Amino acid sequence: MTDSIVVTAGLTKRYGTITAVDGVAMRVEAGEIYGFLGPNGAGKTTTLRMLVGLIRPSAGSATVLGRAPGDPDVLRRIGVLIEGPGFYPYLSGRDNLRVLAKYRGLGRADVEDALDRVGLAARADDKFRTYSLGMKQRLGVGAALLGHPDLLILDEPTNGLDPAGMAEMRELITALAGDGHTVLLSSHMLSEVQEICDRVGVISGGTLRTEATVSELRGAASVLVRAEPLELAFPAVRDALGGNALLTSGGIRVDAGPDTAPEVARAVVAAGADLLELRVDEKSLEEVFFELTELETVK
Ligand code: ATP
Repeated sequence: MTDSIVVTAGLTKRYGTITAVDGVAMRVEAGEIYGFLGPNGAGKTTTLRMLVGLIRPSAGSATVLGRAPGDPDVLRRIGVLIEGPGFYPYLSGRDNLRVLAKYRGLGRADVEDALDRVGLAARADDKFRTYSLGMKQRLGVGAALLGHPDLLILDEPTNGLDPAGMAEMRELITALAGDGHTVLLSSHMLSEVQEICDRVGVISGGTLRTEATVSELRGAASVLVRAEPLELAFPAVRDALGGNALLTSGGIRVDAGPDTAPEVARAVVAAGADLLELRVDEKSLEEVFFELTELETVK
């Protein structure tokens, strides 16, 4: 498919007896924010390093922007922030970006543009070592933005940031995606990135457990109803929901999203029953995440 920016098949990396990445098949589509999620040591960084050509896979394949990772044409079109950028502490933010821009054959206008977009223009002449962690991270994203890359690969961009810094980083990433960059970011905290990601891939123990939209991941929602008398309420709810209702010990369970709740309530009341409780039972992403990543330990 032409719109896939990153495609991998059976991507594997072994270090001696350790399989850091094990047969990963992932797909990042054009224009999306893709969250690559997993606990520490899951294989995220190793995967991203393979995608940018820093290390070679032991097996399997990957294409980035339609070509092999590390291809010079691809490298020109991607911006990367992996494992903290190496900035000079005694240079200003602006001079740090100028050094990188010069190295990459880019001009001063590119630097100013990147500083503007990450909101550092006003502090660009301060030395890097005086920056807060949030500013340092933003400068890292600024460095990745030099040259207007099509794809941004950001390894744990919110790592170590306080809640305000995380919110700023999320806002920045959302804005960048709005500007047409495809973003592949990794995180070990789902809750940090669930609002901004279009799709997520969950990795643990080197294996991609699932790849889905956030709402698909949380898809197993249900509406729980307590009503009296159940003999009246249950058939009414079942008929209203096209048969999708179960009688349980606690009452009635409808396996559907929260948007069915009003219809359920109407059906109970219209049947002449009393509605005692109506509750949407939706898994948090964190719960889904633990379920998926625990698979590895019981395997
Ligand atoms: P974190 O969030 O902690 O950075 P991660 O998901 O990015 O985790 P990786 O850094 O990709 O995980 O590591 C995956 C596994 O591979 C770990 O067990 C790690 O110890 C191992 N590993 C990574 N790089 C090497 C290496 N160069 N030599 C040996 N083992 C390695």
